[in-house]
Formats: sequence, structure tokens, C-alpha cells
Amino acid sequence: MAALKPKVVFVLGPPGSGKGTQCSNIVKEFGYVHLSAGDLLREEMSAEGSEYGQLISNHIKNGTIVPVEITCSLLDKAMVKHCSQVNGTVAGDALNSGKPKFEGNFLIDGFPRNENNLEGWKKAMIGKVEERFMLFFDCPQEISLERCLKRGQAGSGRSDDNEESLKKRLVTYYNDTLPIIKYYDSLGLVRRINASPSADEVYSEVRKLFLN
Ligand code: UDP
Ligand code: MG
Repeated sequence: MAALKPKVVFVLGPPGSGKGTQCSNIVKEFGYVHLSAGDLLREEMSAEGSEYGQLISNHIKNGTIVPVEITCSLLDKAMVKHCSQVNGTVAGDALNSGKPKFEGNFLIDGFPRNENNLEGWKKAMIGKVEERFMLFFDCPQEISLERCLKRGQAGSGRSDDNEESLKKRLVTYYNDTLPIIKYYDSLGLVRRINASPSADEVYSEVRKLFLN
């Protein structure tokens, strides 16, 4: 069977809005593959011999955005890997375990975050993937700040779950990421979710978007 053409749902919202939590729910129920741009960057940062380790680490601590060539190539590689495995372990595991089958659907969490990300993504990916919609987890700054600080205190181990980095992440979010969400909204592609309630309540809204 030919490799599947990736179908993409972007997932955006402020830090601590629940993107990661809700993505893992969607994975369990609908067989999507979750690609967190932040997680891929943290992985690359820690990979032995990576030429980008220091650069990524500085951006993460400062809440600024890594150049798109790096992030987009990590996303591209991950999608290719999953799609080419469709006749191998990924689909096979699903068949044997009762897990929902992987059909080339990806959640791209935390990307595109600024103009540079969007331009670079378009340049590299147009025609290679199908963009479905953008899932937008909307919640006020106080809630997102409080959740991230809690996550830091609970030992997230992240270098950026402290008050100083968080303030910078929020500035980046409001200045650079919200305009990208607005751009997708102008194309009619944004599905907005109120991310303030509990994770279970939020998921009961989220899942409705994936039911058909
Ligand atoms: N990051 C980036 N480009 C991306 C995604 C993440 O440069 O496409 C960096 C950025 O510095 C960001 C950090 O990684 O502040 C953490 O991102 P993540 O999505 O993990 O944080 P979240 O929003 O989930 O709290
Ligand atoms: Mg995250």
C-alpha cells in the first residue's frame, strides 16, 4: 500500500491551555498521532551530537520561537515515519490491540506559532499534507499561568515552567501566535474550545469535533 498522505489538525492555545492533555485523549479515542512541536524540539535538544541543542535550549528558556527550518523538518520527518509504517507496526498493533486504526491523521500541537513558522510550513508542506482545521484552546492568561506554575511545582522538569520564562512565553503567545490563529480564523478553519473548565468537561466538547 502506498504511504498515506498526512491529514493535519493544528492545535494551538496559550501555554497551559491543555493542548497536550486533550491531544492524548484524541489519540486514544480516534487513532490520531500526536506530534508536539515543543516535545520534538526538546528531544532534538537532548539528542547526542545535535548541532541545534544550544540554540533550541536558549529559545525555550526565553519563550522565543526556534527558526522554522528546524521545527518543520522535525515535523516532516515524524509524519513520514508514521505514514510509512502504516503496513508495519503502527497499523498492526492497532489491529491486535483494539486501538483505533491509524489513518494518516496527525495532531500538530504548538505549531505554527509565528509568521516565520507559517511561511516556512507553507513553503515546505503545501501539497504534501491536507490541512483539516485548527483546534484553538482559548483560556485567560491567569488560568494558563496558574496551570503552568503548578505543572512546574509538580516536577514537569521543563526549563520554562517558571514565572520568568512563563511571562516571556505569554508575551510571545499574544504578540506572535494569536495573529496566526486569527489568520486561520479568517479562512474559516478555526474550531474554538473554551479551555477554562476541567479537562473532562473540555474533552466532552473536543470529541464532538472528531465524531464525523
Ligand atoms: N517552540 C518553538 N517552536 C514550536 C514549538 C515550540 O520554538 O513550533 C519552543 C518555544 O520556545 C516554546 C517552547 O518550545 O516556548 C515550548 O513549547 P510547548 O509547545 O512545549 O509549550 P506549551 O505551549 O505546550 O506549554
Ligand atoms: Mg504542550
